[in-house]
Amino acid sequence: MTANGYPPADGVPQPAGAAPPAVLIIEDSRTLAHMANRAIQERLGFVTRVAGTFAEVRRQLAEPPVGGFLAALVDLNLPDAPRGEVLDYVVAAGVPAIVLTANYSTERRQEILKRRVVDYLIKQNRHTYDYVVRLLRRLDRNRAIEVLVVDDSRTVRGTIAALLKLHNYQVLTAADGREALAVLASHPQVALVLTDYHMPEMDGFELITAIRQRFERPNLSIIGLSAQGAADISARFLKQGANDFLAKPFSPEELYCRVMQAVETAEYIQAIEEAAFRDPLTGLHNRRHFFNHAASRIALHPERVALVAMLDIDHFKRINDTYGHDGGDAALVAVANSIKRHFGGELAARFGGEEFCILFQHDRPPQARVRLDNFRQELAATAIPFGNGAIACTVSCGLAWGQLLEPAIKAADEALYRAKAAGRNRIEPVALA
Ligand code: GH3
Ligand code: MG
Ligand code: MG
Repeated sequence: MTANGYPPADGVPQPAGAAPPAVLIIEDSRTLAHMANRAIQERLGFVTRVAGTFAEVRRQLAEPPVGGFLAALVDLNLPDAPRGEVLDYVVAAGVPAIVLTANYSTERRQEILKRRVVDYLIKQNRHTYDYVVRLLRRLDRNRAIEVLVVDDSRTVRGTIAALLKLHNYQVLTAADGREALAVLASHPQVALVLTDYHMPEMDGFELITAIRQRFERPNLSIIGLSAQGAADISARFLKQGANDFLAKPFSPEELYCRVMQAVETAEYIQAIEEAAFRDPLTGLHNRRHFFNHAASRIALHPERVALVAMLDIDHFKRINDTYGHDGGDAALVAVANSIKRHFGGELAARFGGEEFCILFQHDRPPQARVRLDNFRQELAATAIPFGNGAIACTVSCGLAWGQLLEPAIKAADEALYRAKAAGRNRIEPVALA
């Protein structure tokens, strides 16, 4: 506690740990506190603490949970603090505050939003809590999201950065396009770039063009910031490759809405890509992903060859017949995990059924063959736990290399069937002219 009775205002954001985030619900109405409590616990799995009086808020903030509070839902009118005194207290304690109020007025809204709160909502109905849940989920996830703010004005940079930090984003800044590209090169995780137009060295348009050319990043969102009175700038931003724009001056709420939308869109794209390009059972990429990326990988191979292994589990039908479909699935997952361990740096995919394909990135054929054989032997010696017993499983493999991908895959497939015919659990190599 400091001399004025407030807890220290450091509010250092905690890293997302194993413990679920905690939310402080400040609400004197038991019904509303219960509604908030249920929504947060059931839909987010977060921990909650409820305080119905200012005195209780003081107590809770003096003894915060491990990892601190992710946020507080703040009712402005409490029996022992009828004029919103609790808000300043929560903000000073460094806890992100989401204000819920029964009586709305525009002036009051403006006044409250100036006090560095996360958001200001009206307690209307249960839909309010839908929004609260969405907001809390964001505050939690935002801790892992990097946003880059590019503006030559230190004041603008500082203002936007402070607002974004209030919503828990990891904020990086740059004073012009050139600096921004350097930051992006060293921070490949950046999910969103907010950029001004007029800047020395490299302006916003040049920056966007460079980002879209250099980074193969459909999930990197860009929001352009355009100054007042420059109506054409916003349209040009969008044509240049920005996802959205924000006209200056903007309110904190406008910024938050645009940023939240951009970040959520990027998350949807990632989820769709995951669904489209990954096999849900094994977590390996699928055939579609393999063919999308094979050509660029071959171009990186020191000898520019397509070095391909086709793998197929031996007598897999028997595994299914003996242990049931779940047993077969367990064997598939075990084989896939072993492929990930042995060939993590390569382009590996489940092609379908119990068939896998690996494209080697750096190896020459003899090295690839040794690695495949290590994998094959290890798998043959492994008992895959299933139920009370264990499943034994081997693979056969065809290895081929050539100038072109399709013929190499075809040759590897033919070699695979020779490996099967020759007794299975072996590798059959072949070279193409
Ligand atoms: P071989 O040694 O010649 O490769 O014989 P095999 O039994 O492994 O090959 P076959 O192609 O005759 O049988 C493959 C079986 O794999 C048939 C199919 O029902 C089963 N299968 C395909 N996909 C899955 C899956 O996702 N899960 C499970 N459990 N079985 C699958
Ligand atoms: Mg098989
Ligand atoms: Mg098969």
